[in-house]
Amino acid sequence: MGIRNDATVEDAILESRRRRRHHTPLLMSIENELNALTDSLNVEELDISLWKRESGFKHLFSTQETWKLLREQKDKCRWSRGVWFSQATPKFAFIMWLATLNRLSTMDRISSWNPGADSTCVLCKSASESRDHLFFECSYSSQIWEHTIRGVLRSSYTNRWSSIMLLITDGIRDKRKLFCIRYALQAVVYAVWRERNKVKHGDQLMSLSVLKKLVDKDILNKLSLLQTKRIGGMEGALQFWFATRV
Ligand SMILES: [Zn+2]
Repeated sequence: MGIRNDATVEDAILESRRRRRHHTPLLMSIENELNALTDSLNVEELDISLWKRESGFKHLFSTQETWKLLREQKDKCRWSRGVWFSQATPKFAFIMWLATLNRLSTMDRISSWNPGADSTCVLCKSASESRDHLFFECSYSSQIWEHTIRGVLRSSYTNRWSSIMLLITDGIRDKRKLFCIRYALQAVVYAVWRERNKVKHGDQLMSLSVLKKLVDKDILNKLSLLQTKRIGGMEGALQFWFATRV
């Protein structure tokens, strides 16, 4: 082929060679590759660095685009904004997040790896404990949810987990109403989970009226704080909440 044994591809292209024809297909294909590379070479321009982007190679570097290319892209989570929203209380949002993923150690899950465990709900003592039962279907905790949210939801009141998820995800236009639903849900889930754990560890079950008042207080404190801090879009949220107390 007229190429030195120790030549690099660069040497082979840059050293002037007579173009040849070969009988062996492999040699012919090497010759064709070298010719194509030689033809595409632009010796008059200096090499420059380019940054890879989704739309091709560009001169400018973009952190955002590079990050997108490096990470594995997944579908956008539909409920994330319903759980992680501005002005949420972190400890409430965290428990809500685990509940949404069904990662709380409810007895139906514990029973799956420890078949001997008693899976009876400690709040009502009349059904098996699962996430959906514990927070909304249980005769004890469903009353807290209903007491807290019925005035806000009125005819769209529901105690089905999937419907509640839609409520906090789908765009309720009124920002104050959406915040009240999302925040009240997290306050209830947190309070029920804490109460369930206390009873599990030997405490007496708190009376419904006391737990309802504690949840009310959590929500009122937050709405008062938003009013004091004059959070945009939340003007009148406290008055809205009072109007829903029926
Ligand atoms: Zn129960």
